[in-house]
Amino acid sequence: MSRFFDPKYDTLEAYTPGEQPKDNVLLKLNTNECPYPTSPKVLAAIEAEKAFRLYPDPTSSRAVSAIAKYYGLSEDQVTVGNGSDEILAFAFMAYGRKICYPSISYGFYPVFSQVFGCDAEEIPLTKDLRIELGDYMDKDATLLIANPNAPTGIAHPRDAIEQLVAKDPDRLVIVDEAYVDFGAESCVPLIEKYDNLLVVQTMSKSRSLAGMRIGMAMGNAALIQDLNTIKFSFNPYDLSREAIAAAAAAMEDAAYFEETRGKIIATREWFVKEMQSLQFEVLPSSANFVFVKTGSPYFHAMREAGIILRHFDKDPIRNWVRITIGTDEQMQRLVEETKRWLMQQITGGKQ
Ligand SMILES: *Cc1c(COP(=O)(O)O)cnc(C)c1O
Repeated sequence: MSRFFDPKYDTLEAYTPGEQPKDNVLLKLNTNECPYPTSPKVLAAIEAEKAFRLYPDPTSSRAVSAIAKYYGLSEDQVTVGNGSDEILAFAFMAYGRKICYPSISYGFYPVFSQVFGCDAEEIPLTKDLRIELGDYMDKDATLLIANPNAPTGIAHPRDAIEQLVAKDPDRLVIVDEAYVDFGAESCVPLIEKYDNLLVVQTMSKSRSLAGMRIGMAMGNAALIQDLNTIKFSFNPYDLSREAIAAAAAAMEDAAYFEETRGKIIATREWFVKEMQSLQFEVLPSSANFVFVKTGSPYFHAMREAGIILRHFDKDPIRNWVRITIGTDEQMQRLVEETKRWLMQQITGGKQ
């Protein structure tokens, strides 16, 4: 830290992203990326983008209109950002003065709270690592719920979230649906009915575009206008020309999206059964990852075997490991390494 850094950041702990290795030797099952390539139609749309001399469209209107069309919304109910991380940052700036979220959830929430000076209350999960929505019912603060939650993968049905939204029309509920496409119910259909609901999604996971940095928010036009006010006070050109083209093409290529997410869901179901048959406890996942109670030595052993998983060294999830769902072949390799490791546990020692 330099001596010029504002002391208000003295205690700021920045977000630690999952490891992004520079070579391709390791099997990366640690940051919930899509194991399948980006859609060929999206790649073609990126390729067709040539006018880099010019600034991009600050309203990203091609992307916004494709998202609106996909969800049957009007364009003033949608905005986009440089990854949903940026949208969440704007939401913390706009609505985070008092905010409530689970103590075990997306690791960026406490970082945003700190950097934007929010008054945050973290609510513990239940013993079985679930979000108890009843705990949030009477909170007088903006509510932020990841659905499905990360890193557990557990989802609530739309009805349950709706009760939270309906309870107090003067309280904003933000639902982070980064993983919703892998088997949970989106709250987007509730937007017409409630003006105190903001839904945030990303193209990083289910649309195989983590490297393009595209996030989106859907909500009442007044909320979207707030987010755009913040965005235009910060960086109106947050999506590049390529990202805007990619976002529009990704929403239009529904067939590829359905095929790849279907494959990931099927692989997850297979992998969960395999891990359960090896006597591991696995939380019910509606995401493209599973949370498995393996203990941390397993995490280190897999790293040595060339497979990177994600471990959060904090209570009460210290004995759990988050495993991204890859292709069938990748998950078969992990199951084999897991069996080898279990054998070593039984026979004792590493030989
Ligand atoms: C991955 C993730 C995000 C952010 O994704 P972007 O790549 O910034 O769009 C937001 N919320 C949760 C819960 C995530 O897991």
